[in-house]
Amino acid sequence: MKKITKNKIFKFEINQLGIAIIYIKIPGDINKINSIFISDFCESVQLIKNNNNIKAAILISKNKNFCMGIDFDIIKQNNKNFMTKEINKFNEHIRILENCNKTIVAAINGSATSTGYELTLGCNYRIGIKNDKSYFGLPDIRFGILPSSGSMQRLSRIIGIQETIKHILTGSLFSLKTMYNLGIINKIVKTEKDMLYYSKLYIQKNLKSKQPWDNYHKEKIFKTQINDINLNNILLSTIAMIYKKTSGSQLAPQLAISAIQEGLQINFEQSLQVEFRYFLQSIMSKQTQAMIQTLWHHKNLAIKLDKLPKCSNSKISTVGIIGAGMMGSGIAVLCIKAGYKVSLIDIKQTAINNALTHCKKYLTVEEIKNLQCFINIHDMTYNDLVIEAVFEDITLKQQIIKKINAKITKHVILASNTSTLPITELAKFSSNNSNFIGMHFFSPAEKMKLIEIIKGKHTSKHTLARSLHFARSINKLPIVVNDGYGFFTSRVFFSYVLEAIQLVSEGHHPLLIEWSAKNLGMAVGPLQIADEVSLLLIYKAILYKKNKFITKDNEQGFILLQDMINKYNRFGKSYNKGFYSYNNKKRILWNNLKNLITISPKETGIKFLQERIILLQCAEVSRIIDDKILNNYRDAELGSIFGLGFAPQIGGPLHYMDTIGINNIIIKLKKLEKSFGIRYKPARILYTLLKNKKTFF
Ligand code: NAD
Repeated sequence: MKKITKNKIFKFEINQLGIAIIYIKIPGDINKINSIFISDFCESVQLIKNNNNIKAAILISKNKNFCMGIDFDIIKQNNKNFMTKEINKFNEHIRILENCNKTIVAAINGSATSTGYELTLGCNYRIGIKNDKSYFGLPDIRFGILPSSGSMQRLSRIIGIQETIKHILTGSLFSLKTMYNLGIINKIVKTEKDMLYYSKLYIQKNLKSKQPWDNYHKEKIFKTQINDINLNNILLSTIAMIYKKTSGSQLAPQLAISAIQEGLQINFEQSLQVEFRYFLQSIMSKQTQAMIQTLWHHKNLAIKLDKLPKCSNSKISTVGIIGAGMMGSGIAVLCIKAGYKVSLIDIKQTAINNALTHCKKYLTVEEIKNLQCFINIHDMTYNDLVIEAVFEDITLKQQIIKKINAKITKHVILASNTSTLPITELAKFSSNNSNFIGMHFFSPAEKMKLIEIIKGKHTSKHTLARSLHFARSINKLPIVVNDGYGFFTSRVFFSYVLEAIQLVSEGHHPLLIEWSAKNLGMAVGPLQIADEVSLLLIYKAILYKKNKFITKDNEQGFILLQDMINKYNRFGKSYNKGFYSYNNKKRILWNNLKNLITISPKETGIKFLQERIILLQCAEVSRIIDDKILNNYRDAELGSIFGLGFAPQIGGPLHYMDTIGINNIIIKLKKLEKSFGIRYKPARILYTLLKNKKTFF
């Protein structure tokens, strides 16, 4: 083999047959697209094209993955030159590569995602090594980013328009087998040796391969198919589906459909340019910048436990869970999946039975062997961590904590899954309050990414470090907050749902309130989520600290909530009755609601309602900062988005305030305070930022 080392990232070896095996290796573990990658790629493509000794090429990675996408740190820097010029140059060179009249094989050892995956679509043949951990696809839409390098046009010609739309809009990652079934991966082999053997075999049989879109006959058939009336129906129903799902709040899916739709009407070269223009529009948008900041930058810092106490071993291998209800059974599944042995305790046999049924849905027969159930705390086996998840009742929780104490040694961490009750108050009943901590999981615990860790006044740094280690081991995204009723997430949650209930009581149409929130990008409308969490639970939690949440200005809403519970027995979704009525999975607004509220508001409409909904959350988050509950600002963003379904494309309440401008936020809040009460009063932190000419980030 002859070696030509032309550049640092793409290393060439040319065999006697003139096949260049090109090893891709960016220093470090992961091949990703940055300026050096692009410049070396372009140089390599020119070499493949112009060197007559090279008859064909095989691209293969020397790192674990084949290639990932554009380095998000570059996107975060909003480097316009990179985005407009360098990526465009990269795309032009993919086009040169696929048009150079030499067969190019992508020998995919490991995952290929985003732009790295798009690169494989510019090759004539794609061969992968069987590996359960490899995945493929275009997840960037989850950050509001469209594919950058022609995959929408190429995929529609390989797998058809309907599959392409699914591929792009869901941002899903697919296994090698799915990719093979779709016809994107042409062959699966077992070893790297086999991969090179079959790549060469393909090249020998298919010298000078052409892409389907560069084959006149195939492109003609494709263009004929797209005039099919069905295609228009697919596009129209997709637009309707996106609108239903995102309530018009997200830019990227709409841009993707436009790129596909417009790309189909013109020739392939032009369609690539159209697609690139839409990519630029998505990547330069405020939505994408906000999403990259929170969903990438802040999230990665939280995953790395940046500025948080760490330990190399949590010394936890067994977990006891008290209360086998909705939360307890979900937490049990999480722990067993992560390899812990679990004892689950409940006083009711029916609760244990239901929990077992629930666990069996998620766990294998082998995994279930790591679960033991008891109906008496005294029977609980030895554990390193005990999590209480009984009813939200302070007296009951205190009794349980006392009982647990009798069963544990000094090194055991005792955690409460309370969603509101101050940890320091609960810790008073523990014999070792330095080992007592709050671990607030979210429902459904198996699915929700967030865990809110609450430090009590006496929680030790070591307990926090062990708890964080445990949280990461069960794959949760941790935020760490200080103690106080409702901590961070429940306080913001209450502000969201209570304001919606107040708006209903003022006579605004409930469905308009729901739509306004969803159009902002909130995952679930406030009345729907209130039903789902349970009106009874919310009512009890508010009643417990009524003065904290209710003043004379929003008493009307509280009275409505009280009536829903006490007069009309509408406790929420699990009782089939709340703001909605539930029947066989159907959800319709409670018919009698309109008879309870007979007044009409002076002013209403989406814009008005959106301001009320979002600005009250901003006011509450700022007050939480004043109350010193938060340790850092990123937790406000992550807690809101991953725990409460706050609009990801806004980036979080703090990013929202930065975007609107702190001065404007103060002006708006003061105006709302004047008309609707003290809960809108701007917090001190806002004035401090204004005075120092600063923003949150
Ligand atoms: P749940 O009503 O589904 O379950 C509570 C369980 O505790 C019941 O099975 C009950 O039998 C059991 N229990 C009561 N007394 C007990 C005792 N003395 N010993 C053992 N078990 C006992 O409640 P849940 O929704 O799972 O909530 C549990 C805790 O989690 C609460 O503190 C709640 O605030 C918190 N939480 C709930 C959610 C949610 O969305 N439901 C979210 C986060 C946190």
